[in-house]
Amino acid sequence: MFRALLLAPPGAGKGTQGERLAERHGVPHLATGDLLRDHVARGTDLGVAAKAAMDGGGLVPDALVIDMILERIGGSEPLKDFLLDGFPRTLRQARAAFEWGSLMGRTFDAVIMLQVPEEELVRRLVERGRQSGRSDDSADVIRNRLQVYEENTAPLIGFYEERGILLRIDGTGSVDEITERIEQSLSPLLEV
Ligand code: AMP
Repeated sequence: MFRALLLAPPGAGKGTQGERLAERHGVPHLATGDLLRDHVARGTDLGVAAKAAMDGGGLVPDALVIDMILERIGGSEPLKDFLLDGFPRTLRQARAAFEWGSLMGRTFDAVIMLQVPEEELVRRLVERGRQSGRSDDSADVIRNRLQVYEENTAPLIGFYEERGILLRIDGTGSVDEITERIEQSLSPLLEV
């Protein structure tokens, strides 16, 4: 059983760690940012509706993201295991996911929170923008994304802490070190 989500500001390493963890545990890695970028690239209705918010570093409306992700993990054969990356990002999304999970017997086992100091986040994002050319990795958009995280997503820390599934992980150091820290914190929660 492995149903987890990654909760961290932009640049904290969600994508990198998400891919590794999903592979190690043999579960699908569902990254809302990747799914949305794919919609934008294909020019779907969702992509068209999401593009402006994404370009500015804001959030795509809750209803659209909730539908997209619940369709993905729900549907006719709901997934048993998954690693969500970048969802939920608002309290409304968290409540919708929790309601869905309670209804389907699929509440989350663990919320992995990666902690990285802000100046390190900015440094990593600027570097990523230079290398990958991701359009929302420019200086002013980065600032906006960090502020959006503080305002909308940081309140989820309390939501999951109350439920006793929040893992605070030091997100600095090498990629391997961070993966090991996550695995060590996860193991007691996953042993059933
Ligand atoms: P990411 O790749 O996770 O940094 O996401 C890139 C962009 O996709 C974000 O800046 C948002 O515009 C949008 N996005 C991703 N996940 C969500 C979400 N759960 N809710 C709203 N917008 C999202």
